[in-house]
Amino acid sequence: MSDPHELKVLNPATEEVVATVPAAGAAEVDAAVVRAARAQAGWAALAPADRARLLRRFADTVDSHVEELARLEVREAGHTIGNARWEAGNARDLLLYAAGGAERVLGRQIPVPGGWNVTFQEPLGVVGVIAPWNFPMPIAAWGSFPALAAGNAVVLKPAEATPLTALRLAELALEAGLPDHLLQVLPGHGAVAGRALVDHPGVAKIVFTGSTRTGREVMERCARLVKPVTLELGGKSPNIVFADADLTAALDPFSFLDNSGQDCCARTRILVHAPVYDEARALLADALAAVVVGDPADEKTRMGPLISHGQLDRVRSFVPEDAPALRGSAPDGPGFWFPPTVLTGERHDSRAAREEIFGPVAVLLPFADEEDAVRLANDTPYGLSGSLWTRDLGRALRVSQAVRAGNLSVNSHSSVRYWTPFGGFKQSGLGRELGPDALTAFTETKNVFISTEGPVQ
Ligand code: NDP
Repeated sequence: MSDPHELKVLNPATEEVVATVPAAGAAEVDAAVVRAARAQAGWAALAPADRARLLRRFADTVDSHVEELARLEVREAGHTIGNARWEAGNARDLLLYAAGGAERVLGRQIPVPGGWNVTFQEPLGVVGVIAPWNFPMPIAAWGSFPALAAGNAVVLKPAEATPLTALRLAELALEAGLPDHLLQVLPGHGAVAGRALVDHPGVAKIVFTGSTRTGREVMERCARLVKPVTLELGGKSPNIVFADADLTAALDPFSFLDNSGQDCCARTRILVHAPVYDEARALLADALAAVVVGDPADEKTRMGPLISHGQLDRVRSFVPEDAPALRGSAPDGPGFWFPPTVLTGERHDSRAAREEIFGPVAVLLPFADEEDAVRLANDTPYGLSGSLWTRDLGRALRVSQAVRAGNLSVNSHSSVRYWTPFGGFKQSGLGRELGPDALTAFTETKNVFISTEGPVQ
């Protein structure tokens, strides 16, 4: 950890300091939670239609700042400008979707003898969101906006490398007329501000996205207070390519290079049917050579830098210079650059084939038949995402049922949609974000029985 009281935000493409922001300590977290609790009481008392109206106004405000937010994301996270615009648009669209839910947080009426029985979905109170650096804006939004729509207040701790877009979103919320302190962003170090949020008895739920190691610690600490937690953790997702597939589409290198591979859904285990292995290798070699890596602000760039020096060292540790691999190119000089890489000499149980690298690196592995493909796909502690490619419908159905992962795509590398559920099996996480049930995850069910027998004398 560097200076405990401030965070230096670096531009990953140039290593220049973009901003310095104060780092919150435990006292600041405590004060923020107290303010949030007060704001939440007023927010929950508003008519649902009024909450929805304010959230739609927030969406309009984000919409008129998409370009500014995108440029900020390019500077603090090194995302390509095209991706960054999509990310700001994703935050806006999720706000609109969640606003629609504010008026549909419904309970049920359950028939019982001697009275009426009704259930209510009540807001939890103050929700703590801990976000990572790989998609600072969307992940902050996925944790926070459905929580707000369900009547909660949010205290958000962004990653120390990328606090700027989250801070700007909170300013835009105020500009749009959301109550003071309803959405507070507290930059800080994970071991200080993150832990303080997790341990705070006034925080009713934690939504954590990041590494499995830290997620495990967050869950252990939440257990002490019996605090519910949603975890979106790591992945090592397969891309299963059968011989009858459209190989060019199946081997699109952006299935693992998007966001420089810093994506928990990256399809980093390319499992290829043995009869087309050589063809797949040749296609990937050409595709990697064609990837434009460079200045993320340039409209033509397809891949930018890694987030930090530490991440660059970590990625390098998986790719020895003499490792058999297909390699693209990357700039020299300042910035955290690593070329697109496919390792071709790995065994399926090697470190590079099993651990989440979080860089532009995949492994290429052959499989013998359908059974072998499913076995390899499932032979990992993770279960977040994956693709499978075949023109055989029966096989597509069988394999998508057999692969244990939360988000699969058939003949597509489709990514996350805000209106469908997202989350992992196994050590990739717990709970789901987004989709039609997103708001319910931020409510507690209350059951009320009302006797029709009249008061007891
Ligand atoms: P972490 O899981 O450590 O960080 C994620 C968030 O948790 C950050 O905001 C971090 O703060 C915070 N945090 C860290 N420690 C604690 C703690 N003890 N209590 C509460 N919050 C905490 O990820 P890293 O940044 O260290 O990345 C390491 C690896 O994790 C990557 O290489 C990648 O493999 C994986 N990863 C996976 C992600 C995913 O989306 N699944 C996202 C990010 C990383 P701070 O920034 O101050 O450390």
